[in-house]
Amino acid sequence: MKIKFMADFKHDENSRRASKTELLKQIKEEILNLKKSPLYKYRIENHYFPVIGEGSRDAKIMFVGEAPGRNEAKTGNPFCGTAGKVLDQLLGHVNIDRNGVYITNIIKDRPQENRDPTPEEIKVYGPFLDRQIEIIKPKIIVALGRYSMGYIMEKFGLKDQIEPISKMHGKSYEANTSYGPIKIVCLYHPCVAVYNPNKKAELKKDFEILKSLIIL
Ligand code: URA
Repeated sequence: MKIKFMADFKHDENSRRASKTELLKQIKEEILNLKKSPLYKYRIENHYFPVIGEGSRDAKIMFVGEAPGRNEAKTGNPFCGTAGKVLDQLLGHVNIDRNGVYITNIIKDRPQENRDPTPEEIKVYGPFLDRQIEIIKPKIIVALGRYSMGYIMEKFGLKDQIEPISKMHGKSYEANTSYGPIKIVCLYHPCVAVYNPNKKAELKKDFEILKSLIIL
């Protein structure tokens, strides 16, 4: 029987991480050249960046927002504007390190004037999110907002459990993936706290619930 030495385990771990990096890079390249996207022309004309995602490739928690806003499209980083500030406060509230999670969106390019994503856009960008999930293999997926919630719940066969977000927020749903069971949590989008400060308290409570779901 072949005995694995510590150096072999280290080597396996290094190549696993390298292949994750490579696969994520491939996604970025494909999105950069995604001419079939209805948002491609708008991105090029405005010198915007696509917003692919950011954070740890081994994250236990993946946050999925809706679509980049202006600040995000100008920098290529998710949640770096007003909604991002709220997200940072909520992560800070429960001591979750932003660098230790993965943050992305269902739509990777900014829709004009921050309008809602169209079904066609969700169809174009959804498969990239599917691949990001398969690469990073998060144990908890947090859907932020209506469209990501709808997409994630449907993707994992939980469409019949969709209710208004006022009923779903803060609950956790069990789902199965190719790499094992995961939890799905649907939350109010952080931008609701920008316009409605009362929602901030609810979001804080929901982040406390989220924190309690993390098994170390
Ligand atoms: N809102 C989102 O849904 N995503 C971002 O990246 C920024 C704002």
